[in-house]
Parts: sequence; C-alpha cells; structure tokens
Amino acid sequence: MRTILCTLALLLGMSTPARAIDIERIEPTNWWVGMRHNRVELLVHGTGIATSTPRLSRAGVAIVDVQKTDNPNYLFVTVEIAGDAIPGGIDIEFVDAGKVVATHPWRLDAREPGSARRRGFDARDAIYLVTPDRFANGDPSNDSVTGMLEAANRANPNGRHGGDIAGMRQHIDYIAGMGFTQLWPTPFLENDQPQYSYHGYAITDLYKTDPRMGRNEDVRALSREARAKGVGLIMDIVLNHIGSKHWWMTDLPAKDWINHGGTFAPTNHRRTTIQDPHAAPADREAFTDGWFVDAMPDLNQRNPHLARYLIQNTLWWIEYAGLSGIREDTFGYADTQFLGDWAKAVLAEYPDFAMVGEEWSINPVVVAHWQRGKQNTSGHVPHMPSMMDFPIHIALRSALAQPEGWDSGWVNLYEMLANDFVYPDADALVVFAENHDTSRLFAHLDGDLATWKLGMAYLATVRGTPQFYYGSEVLLRGPRERNDGQLRADMPGGWSGDPADAFTGNGLSAAQRDAQAYTRALFDWRKRTPLLHSGKLTHFAPQDGVYVYFRHDGAKSVMVALNKNAGATPLLLERFDAFLRGRGARDALTGNAVALGTTLALPGKSATLLEIE
Ligand code: CA
Repeated sequence: MRTILCTLALLLGMSTPARAIDIERIEPTNWWVGMRHNRVELLVHGTGIATSTPRLSRAGVAIVDVQKTDNPNYLFVTVEIAGDAIPGGIDIEFVDAGKVVATHPWRLDAREPGSARRRGFDARDAIYLVTPDRFANGDPSNDSVTGMLEAANRANPNGRHGGDIAGMRQHIDYIAGMGFTQLWPTPFLENDQPQYSYHGYAITDLYKTDPRMGRNEDVRALSREARAKGVGLIMDIVLNHIGSKHWWMTDLPAKDWINHGGTFAPTNHRRTTIQDPHAAPADREAFTDGWFVDAMPDLNQRNPHLARYLIQNTLWWIEYAGLSGIREDTFGYADTQFLGDWAKAVLAEYPDFAMVGEEWSINPVVVAHWQRGKQNTSGHVPHMPSMMDFPIHIALRSALAQPEGWDSGWVNLYEMLANDFVYPDADALVVFAENHDTSRLFAHLDGDLATWKLGMAYLATVRGTPQFYYGSEVLLRGPRERNDGQLRADMPGGWSGDPADAFTGNGLSAAQRDAQAYTRALFDWRKRTPLLHSGKLTHFAPQDGVYVYFRHDGAKSVMVALNKNAGATPLLLERFDAFLRGRGARDALTGNAVALGTTLALPGKSATLLEIE
C-alpha cells in the first residue's frame, strides 16, 4: 500500500504524503512522578507503527529506548521520568519520513502521600472474599451492556447475575460491621467472553474494569470509601493467562506472546514438577506452558516485553486504586523466574505491601517453595510474603468431617500445623475453610451447623490471616461436590425484591441469624484481640475428640478448646497447667467469668473460647 502511495505521489509530481497512523492503544495510559519504577515501557499498538519513531518534548521526561517485535503493529517505548518532572498531559508524536504520522496523549500524575509505604494486610486482618457478580447488584442499569458478548441472565447459574462494584460500595458498612478488615473481590476487569464471563478470570483488557461491574473510577471510589471504614482492598491479579477474546489475540504483540504458539494445549496440573528432582523436563514444561482451558490462552512471561507489561500493570493498579494487597491466581502455573521477578519488583516499590499466592496443594513443601525467605534446593529465590494455606484448608475440612480416631479427625489438623517449620513465615499465611473454587464448608458438613461453627472458631483463632467467603455467614450452602455456578450463589438481599436480606437480617431463618451472629461475634472479637494476631501458638495433641491450643504472649493467653463430641465432655485441665494455674478466665464472646477447677465442662460440638489472665 505504502509503495503504491509513493508511486502515485511520484506520478502526480507531489511530495510523499505523510501516512496517518491510527494509534489504537498506548499502555499504560499514564504513570506517576516519584515511582522507584521510573523507566516505563509503553506498549504502543497501531497498524504499521513500527516504522515510525516516537518523540516527546517535556522537561524531566525522555524516551530512552524503543524496541520492535516481529509484529510491525507494535512499538515498545521506554520513557524515563525524573523525580522532579511536573505532572500533567504530554503528547507523544510518532514520526515517519520526517512527518508526524500520529500524536497520542499520555499523562503524568502525582502520587498519593505515603503511597510507597502503604501497609499491606497481615495477621491483624480478616479477609472477606466476594464474587462481585453474585454479591450485590448496586446498579441494575449496567447488568447488560450493548456490544458486549454476554448479557445478564440471573436464571442461569453460570451466567451473569448483575452484581457490581456499586453493590460492594453499598455494603462496606456491613462487611466492616462483621469484623472484616479486608475485602477481596474476585477479578473485576473486563471479561468480554461469550460465556462464564461472570467469574472474571478470563480477562480481555488488563487496564479496564468490566463495564458491567463499573468503571475504573468506581474501583478507586470503592477502595477510598472502604479504607475510610477500616477495610482495605485486595485485588485479584491473574498473571498466568488471559481470556480468548483479549484484544491481543487478534494481533499478537509477538509470535511468542502466548504459549504453544497461541493454540490450545492443556496444562497437566502437575505442580510438583517445579521442585521434583526426578521430574521429566517435558512434564514441568507441560505444567507451566499448558493452558487451563481453551478460553484462557496461557501467557509466555519469558517474553521480556510481556513480563514488563505484567509487572507495570500490577504497579499501576496498586497506585491507581490504592490497594492494600494482591491475591495472585494460579501462582505456580506462570513462569517460575518471572514470578520471582514480579514479586520482587512490587515489593521494591512498596516494601510493606502484602501479596498472597494461590498454590492449591495439600503439601506444605510445595506451598513453602514460593514464600519469601525460603532456601530452595531448586535454586528458585521466592519473594511472596504470603501464600494461601491450602494444606490447612484441606486438613481442616477432613478434621471436621471425619470421625475421631487415632489417625482421623482432629489429628489431620494437629499434624498439618506441625509442618509450619517448613515455612519461612507461617504466621503470614492466609487460612480459609472454603473459597470460590471449593464447596462451601456447610455443604461439606451436610448442614451440620454446630460443626461448622467449630470450623469458624478455628479460622478466627489459628495463626495467620483468616479469609471468609461471602454468604457463608447466612449459610449459603450450594452442592456438596464442587459446582462453581451454584457455589457462587447470590447473596440474599443483594438484589431488590429478594425474599430474604442478609444485610438487614429481614427474612433470615433462625439458623441463618444464629450463624451470622456467631460469625460477627468471632471476627469482632478477633479484630480487637492482639493475641489472636501475633500470639505464639501452642497446641496439645487431640484427645477424646477435643483439640486444645493457646495463643499467648508470656503474660496472657487465649485458650481454644474445640469439642467435636456430640455430648458434653469434661476436659481435665492438669495438662494445661502451664497456661492456667493460678489464673482467672472469662468467656471471650460473652465476657462471663469461667471457673477453672480440675475439669472444664465443654458443651457438645462447640468451641470454648477463653481469655486467661
Ligand atoms: Ca449491575
């Protein structure tokens, strides 16, 4: 085309006309002055852009590198920003054959004060996990958006139900009032996929909130309003894959952008291959480079431009939305070296920030491999402050569901916790009984409310940061076997016209009100009890269906006695003399004094929670 134009121009005796290029995107659209990461690589996308040269004119800002790929429609332009650059708009010009062929706006912003030293979540916090599409529909006008591939259909368990950012904004008081101090919504970025788009893990634009959830500005408002009420915002980041309808897929930035050449090849899910000294290299490659499903192309983070894009995207969201933490999806499936580089870069920018990774294994040595400070035989140097405690999650569910025996019941939990020595920092792990990918604990226990409460009491008192899944406080149950669409049921009261309302309590059954009150009492107590955040944990071998442990600091302690027996059980206290002799006790939830004699009467199927002084 260009040749034809030139020939035509020559034939007509004219000078060569400057060919205008339509710049479709520059990402990120802005950056901040004063970031440690002050050399930002911009992805520029426009047909034929690679033949042009970018330029800009602004004090304190310079283009220091320009890279091309095998796709002429992309340029990677590195901009260096001086610490004294002035915030404001900048025009970036693209010049070809001496003519400006495109001009695109870009922007420098000022940082929020204290941004770099923000505190991430830790064991002082309790996390409330929400599937936004299923939590509350605060704005029915955005349920379906013209031009997007999937419209709302609340009758379809696997469809979009209309929940959104506005819904979360309307219920921050409820979340805070339940004793939670962090909100983790599953991904809210654009998922313009033809089906299953509600879950959010098939992202089609990494810089854009899904219009059916709201706008980027709404996320920022949610974060600001939540923070004002003592609730931090944790963002669910997906480094491993994108959605098949991501705009990259119609014009890949480079041939090696997507693993397996951009065509579906499934992962083998064999996560042990990362450390296994005997693993066949082909199996390890199949684990990290295979795709989850054909709707989720697997990213090749070994491409340095993609690696920088993903790192910058994370920094951008932390800075833009004022995040207090990140939960990183399908952690080990991404390139191992990249995972270290990514976490290191985030913590270099925000040293007190928190990030938790998902490594779905029952084996603590598989999980510990990724935690900061772990000396790995594999040679991998990890940087993640926290990981999801899947081993305890699995052991807890077994402990609660199994009958007591020498090698069943509480001993699962007792022995799993004993593995804490493999972690550099077990107190930083995130503990949970269920999440958006499991069955709910209440279903797992066949609706046994008393045993469910034992599980909640454990979560609120064990070491680490507890994570709770929305709706379980009003006994959302779902099927016993994993079924995502039904597990992620609508929160009662999140939609106008709902017959019951978890937020006000109207229409809830007695059992639902009981469970909600218990959850609120537990997490409110936990919130104001430093021993449960940082106290050392000492546990005693389970006996006769009772598991006892203490959180203590040398002066005071909290005693937790979990009785799984159906009937009342007398607990001989002599074993616990070191913590109890000569001390007074009161019930942590009622405040009533409790006499400590030679035995303590534990009610059947209940947690006895005592503050010892
Ligand atoms: Ca909506």
